Amino acid sequence: MGANIDRSVNDGRGPPVFKISGQVHHRIGSLLPPEGSPPKFLQLYIYDTANEVSNRLKALHSDDGSASSLDPSIIQNLTAMLDQHNPFAKKFRMARDRLEQNCDDEFVIRIVDFSLETFKRDIIIQTKSGNPRHISSLHPAYMPLQYPLLFPFGERGFQVGILYSGLDDRKKGKRQTITMHEYFRYHFHYRRNQHNPFLNYGLLSSQAKIDARAAIDENRLWFILRNQSRLRVENLQGIADAIGRISLGILEAGQKPSDKADIVVRVYNMKLEEMLDDIKSGNAFGHILAGLPHAHIIFWTAEDTTNPSPSMIDKYISAEIPDPKEDPLLYALVAEHMMDGPCGKDNPKCPCMKNGKCSKGFPKSFQEETTIDENGFAIYKQPNNGRFVQKGGIRLDNRWVAPYNPYLLKKFQAHINVEWCNKGGTTRPTRSTQRRA
Ligand SMILES: [Zn+2]
Repeated sequence: MGANIDRSVNDGRGPPVFKISGQVHHRIGSLLPPEGSPPKFLQLYIYDTANEVSNRLKALHSDDGSASSLDPSIIQNLTAMLDQHNPFAKKFRMARDRLEQNCDDEFVIRIVDFSLETFKRDIIIQTKSGNPRHISSLHPAYMPLQYPLLFPFGERGFQVGILYSGLDDRKKGKRQTITMHEYFRYHFHYRRNQHNPFLNYGLLSSQAKIDARAAIDENRLWFILRNQSRLRVENLQGIADAIGRISLGILEAGQKPSDKADIVVRVYNMKLEEMLDDIKSGNAFGHILAGLPHAHIIFWTAEDTTNPSPSMIDKYISAEIPDPKEDPLLYALVAEHMMDGPCGKDNPKCPCMKNGKCSKGFPKSFQEETTIDENGFAIYKQPNNGRFVQKGGIRLDNRWVAPYNPYLLKKFQAHINVEWCNKGGTTRPTRSTQRRA
């Protein structure tokens, strides 16, 4: 894949990540490698095929698996499968046979798509010369050429001009053809009992997803670039400004912001996404080590909380392990999502450990009842009642539970940390939640 692949993110913690930076480009080179260079990409189908398996192993990036970890017989079987079923592989083998008969033969392979009315650009592959040529992501062979194992039969990818079904129902003047975004959204969706190459091949699928996303963005940017005058960009800018001052721009006389809730939620989501981008890209806090998609939300309850009582807090927030007999589901969810650690000396490599200590202050102290300190902060009930959760061979008791709301935890089944907070030590207590899906 033609992009800068950031391999440093996969340092052993958390799920594997496929991350790229910079512009994505797909290029296709010549059928034969330059004098003295080993074959790469499609050249593996053509050049020195007597040693194809070892050539393929050598062509791998060292992080993608070393020769010792890969089974040559699997590579051989996959190659044989593609030779038998994949139209591109067949074409490349034909080129190999022709070059074997006459090694000075000069010709081109042209991958044409006759069905295209609105977009015509063939992929041309020359025997030797020439700089690598760009493959447009609008060519139907773009994905199958890049991911032969995901599209073993050379299935067609996106092309310009696919009509919507049921066109009569669409209002006149509306777009008649599907966008690349819609195309990939449709194909990326899981369907019962249906094998999906975009979902089922681990990191290769992740790469294909990133690739598709990059192609969508690239084509949108191209569209904007080519249609500047039509788009009346200054009007869009106006909308962006108005969103910042929603009461001035978008609302009609007599409307409240809540009357335009559709805009409000979109703006919220845009801002949330953008804020996460800013944090991840280092704009806000410099380089960061790790981050999962999550949000912090702070809100005020309607209930009068000027003088919060322990029972008021207990109604919404719990920080203890529930009775596994009374509520087995909640017990399992707390065990899965709300326990810190094991950290400390039992597990010094836990991500929460900073300078030899748990950065989140676990384990807390046992606490028989919820109390509120003089600043209005809650100290949650975490009794020494013998309940525990077994994790990594270690028994974690109530002191290791992060406060949660049973309703939210059961509904979303995710790490949702709920805290009673007190604004600046003044009189207005609030609750804040953190959601990490
Ligand atoms: Zn910890």
